[in-house]
Formats: sequence, structure tokens, C-alpha cells
Amino acid sequence: MGYRYRQALTQVYRTTPRQRQLCQLSPIELKQQGITVLVLDFDGVLAAHGESQPAKEVHPWLQTCIQCFGANQVFVLSNKPLASRIAHFNCHYQGVRYITAVRKKPYPDGLKEIIALTGQSSHQVMLIDDRLLTGVLAACLANVSVAYITYPYVQLSKRPLPEMFFMVLRFLERYLISLYSRFTYPNH
Ligand SMILES: [Mg+2]
Repeated sequence: MGYRYRQALTQVYRTTPRQRQLCQLSPIELKQQGITVLVLDFDGVLAAHGESQPAKEVHPWLQTCIQCFGANQVFVLSNKPLASRIAHFNCHYQGVRYITAVRKKPYPDGLKEIIALTGQSSHQVMLIDDRLLTGVLAACLANVSVAYITYPYVQLSKRPLPEMFFMVLRFLERYLISLYSRFTYPNH
């Protein structure tokens, strides 16, 4: 599927700033662009890998999202639905739903479930994710909008092995897409 959607993935890669962090995205601007539902990846996007709660500076950003979109229009869709994370969200961000029990991204099941739950059109839904071949690909498959995070949260000192593993994965998928991009757009 990654190969079939290579053009869409290349487009996302080429149009995303190289140092994009979550908190640089303005919930108000997203709303003005017609987005009505936000879907957030956890690892790398809300916090470093394996953390049970969002990074400190993400808290006010999440509160702005809840004010802007309404808590019932904000979702977390992670391939790691840890009980501690769900408990944290239930306690601190009431109304925000943590989607579980669906096939993992890049399967679009979770996004399709969110579209069905909210009754919004797919283009009004935006996934924010730091992985091209899982989250961004799932967004392409479900035809939802996507914001690709190119400067994810990483805590190398705390969890060196998993963080290095995911850094290599991110590097490889970007390398593959940039190779394809260079062949497709040789003058850029
Ligand atoms: Mg992630």
C-alpha cells in the first residue's frame, strides 16, 4: 500500500517543513481551514515513546484544541493503547476519546471509526502523526487530512533502544520517499 500511495506520501513529505513540532500547529487556524475533528497519534507526537502522559508543553495546546473543537471532536489514535494513557486522558481530558480495538495503522480502521462516530466528512478530519508509513499512509487510505510531524518528541537518554529503533524507522521511510521524490521531481 505504501508503494501504491507513494505519490500521496511524497506530496505530504515535500510540503511539510523539516522541523515541524506539534505545538507549532495552531488549532484555531486548523479550524479556520475547515477541520472539525482532530486525531492525535501518541508516541512521538504527544510525548516521547513509551510515556504514559503527554509532554508538559502539550497540555495547554490540548486544552486549546478542546476549546476550539470540543472534547468530543478530539481523539487519540495510537498503535499502543496503554491502560495508563487511557486512564490519564479520562482523568485530565474528559470527553477526548482514545480509540482502541481496531487494527493498527496503517490500516485505516481507526480513522474510519472516527468518521462514523462524528458523522463528519473525511476531509474535515485531520490526523497528526510522525510516521509516514503508518499514520500518514492510514490517512491517505481513509482520505482524511494529515499533518506530518517531522520534529517528534524523543527521549534518547530514558529509552535509548526503542528510541533509536524508531529513529532508524523514521529515517528509512523518509529516505525511501525522498528517493522516490528525487526521481519524480528531478528539478526540485
Ligand atoms: Mg508516532
